[in-house]
Amino acid sequence: MDFRHSPRARELLALLTGFLDREVAPREEAYHRELLARQDPWVVLPVIEELKAKARAAGLWNLFLPDRDHGGAGLTNVEYAPLAEAMGRSLIASEVCNCAAPDSGNMELLLHPGTEEQRRQWLAPLLAGEIRSAFCMTEPDVASSDATNMEATAVLDGDEIVLNGREWWSTGIGHPNCRVLIFMGLTDPAADRYHQHSMVLVPLDARGVSIERMLTTMGFNDAPGGHGEVAFEDVRLPAAQALLGGAGQAFGLAQARLGPGRVHHCMRLIGLAELALELACRRATTRVAFGKPLANLGGNRERIADARIAIDQARLLVLHAAWTTARALRLADGPDEVHRGVVARLELARYGAGRWGGG
Ligand SMILES: Cc1cc2nc3c(=O)[nH]c(=O)nc-3n(C[C@H](O)[C@H](O)[C@H](O)COP(=O)(O)OP(=O)(O)OC[C@H]3O[C@@H](n4cnc5c(N)ncnc54)[C@H](O)[C@@H]3O)c2cc1C
Repeated sequence: MDFRHSPRARELLALLTGFLDREVAPREEAYHRELLARQDPWVVLPVIEELKAKARAAGLWNLFLPDRDHGGAGLTNVEYAPLAEAMGRSLIASEVCNCAAPDSGNMELLLHPGTEEQRRQWLAPLLAGEIRSAFCMTEPDVASSDATNMEATAVLDGDEIVLNGREWWSTGIGHPNCRVLIFMGLTDPAADRYHQHSMVLVPLDARGVSIERMLTTMGFNDAPGGHGEVAFEDVRLPAAQALLGGAGQAFGLAQARLGPGRVHHCMRLIGLAELALELACRRATTRVAFGKPLANLGGNRERIADARIAIDQARLLVLHAAWTTARALRLADGPDEVHRGVVARLELARYGAGRWGGG
């Protein structure tokens, strides 16, 4: 196992950190202050478009995408991991480099099972950073950590597919540039549980789609993308254009989407943890109480050491997941218990245990 950065990752990392330090970091605080002060925060402030243009011109664009033919950086998950960590130190860097969730996962879905027409209509503007997207799977009425539970419907009717249901926590749906949703719904209740649901591409302005409210997490609305509750009432779409990857394929596609997506989230959070530790250490070494820097009071050195150990452990674990090709691990988004269950299942399988624990 070798986690040294490849020459290409090293080169991009140097370019990216230089860009983030020079262009993004000095503008970020003012960006957040302006957004928080606005009555209407569901806007794209000009600084974002300005930084996007600069990132694109510098070649720091679609770094998450392994496919070079479609303008991606051609990196493996292990190569992309340090770049995601660097972007994680900022709350706007991922958007500035067109690497933000949920678009990154949605673009991967459009690239792989998407048809040529679906790619032309939705992937091309997403790759260009002209539009944004949302992913609508979680429903208020069912436990959505189990992706086979979904009750919203996507029913084939002649040449059309008809959607009904209610989704929530649809991240990014409040963004002024959001134009397309990937909806997950029940198509064939008689099929085996992993082939009942379909994914459907839905233009946000399709008749029957309404955003009923925006939700908050821990008091924040996460504008301008946010998280919405969305009603789908008899939304009729041409099936050939709207079905992604064929009827009944949603479960497998959701797993494929979230495998690399989870590694990206984890690496970004490690970047954020590094920033938090850096800020704590700067404060602890410059602020003095009882004649000593805060770092030398109480158990603070031990806390700093424990934080360093936890961050380094987490980084190694995530790099290991990326190196064991996280796609194949099929770690779905959702509660940690579900992910731990999958890890335990893989570990126990080495000793002959079946899915439910027995031999
Ligand atoms: C900020 C935010 C953004 C989100 N963005 C999106 C999005 O863009 N699109 C989307 O579709 N969804 C999104 N979600 C929804 C998210 O994926 C779901 O909340 C998650 O999958 C859990 O589903 P649930 O809320 O229905 O919880 P439930 O399925 O009801 O689970 C509740 C709790 O039960 C426990 N539990 C569940 N399964 C197990 C298990 N196997 N073992 C032990 N305990 C278990 C866990 O503690 C879990 O938290 C987002 C959520 C948040 C908070």
